[in-house]
Amino acid sequence: MSHVFPRHTKSNLPTVARGEGVYLYDTTGKQYFDGSGGAAVSCLGHGDPDVTNAIKKQLDAVAFAHTSFFTSDPAEQLADKLIEHAPDGIDRVYLVSGGSEAMEAALKLARQYFVEIGQPQRCHIIARRQSYHGNTLGALATGGNEWRRAPFSPLLVETTHISPCFEYRGKHDDETTLDYGLRVANELETEILRLGEDSVIAFVAEPVVGATAGAVPAVEGYFKRIREICDQYGVLLILDEVMCGMGRTGKIFASEHEGIHPDIVAVAKGLGAGYQPIGAMLCSAKIYAAIEDGSGFFQHGHTYVGHPTACAAALAVLTKLTDGGLVERCAAKGDLLQAALQNTFAQHPNVGDIRGRGLFRGIELVEDRESKRPFSPERRLHATLKKEAFNAGLICYPMGGTIDGKQGDHILLAPPFILDDNH
Ligand code: PLP
Repeated sequence: MSHVFPRHTKSNLPTVARGEGVYLYDTTGKQYFDGSGGAAVSCLGHGDPDVTNAIKKQLDAVAFAHTSFFTSDPAEQLADKLIEHAPDGIDRVYLVSGGSEAMEAALKLARQYFVEIGQPQRCHIIARRQSYHGNTLGALATGGNEWRRAPFSPLLVETTHISPCFEYRGKHDDETTLDYGLRVANELETEILRLGEDSVIAFVAEPVVGATAGAVPAVEGYFKRIREICDQYGVLLILDEVMCGMGRTGKIFASEHEGIHPDIVAVAKGLGAGYQPIGAMLCSAKIYAAIEDGSGFFQHGHTYVGHPTACAAALAVLTKLTDGGLVERCAAKGDLLQAALQNTFAQHPNVGDIRGRGLFRGIELVEDRESKRPFSPERRLHATLKKEAFNAGLICYPMGGTIDGKQGDHILLAPPFILDDNH
């Protein structure tokens, strides 16, 4: 009998034995194509020798040293490389162990920034309904996934949620795409005014919504208007690129597609590519200066902040992504994948929408294409599809998103960037 506390107590999972390229193998020798990189993690595939050698080299030198005593070469070099590719204005990197931690750090830094600059009355976070920002209490409070939030609601700080920018579901027939984007972006201004002009800390959003919606980018103009509103009311813009960042959309930072600059951005998943647990919270020079010129101490910190071995792995990953042409490859293969999905499934009576960017693609499943009616909760397909695909040797990431308070169905595909056309 196992003593592991699994995600699902009723599941009976195979044991993974090894990974090679785009494939994983279990202990019976069965091969699985990693079509979602786990949960959009394994951007380099499995068994990359450059990354494993970088980890081994660091382990031989020193595995860990606490950041209250030392900095390390891998942490310094990783931060430099991230900043080299980061949006304009972003200047500092806080290295953590995963996505939820990166989001917790982002939320706390945003609040502390206003305390430091003498605006302690700012105490509200605004996010969007169809969103996921992590499973720790602060990140969970920020996310809009009702199903995940419900059991813990008494423990969650109050966060308000505005509409997502989800063209397939939200655009009215009689409005242009541009008008739709502006309408939902303007909800932010309405909410700021409702809460009090100088009482909002930050607006939080995923540039391409992952798990709760199935690879949904915003329409053109939406994030530009969001940035304008944030600037007008002195509200910080926090972008959660935990799932969509690190090249997944065909650009290192997904916000590059939008032509806007966040104040704070969180990345994880693809940063370590599964080789080590690592995430990062990046912030602007202005925010860092407020801490430096103020208390001089970010009131945060976990034991494994800036873990040298994790940083060495991420540095090797990022070097491969940026210097090895893999981000461009992701963009090109992503276009091919979109075309193949369209050719194969666009006419299927239960496929409502096929969307995404780069190698981050979502297929929305509906009971009725005409009315876009989702399947009822009893008939939702994603869990069955996950199981059937897995049995057939394909790992994909089906999820039930929330559509107008009801659960919907989608499949997320996020394969490694190294896949070839035959895959
Ligand atoms: N933010 C987004 C957009 C995510 O998709 C996730 C995880 O799926 C997280 C945050 C939390 O990351 P982690 O699971 O590494 O804590």
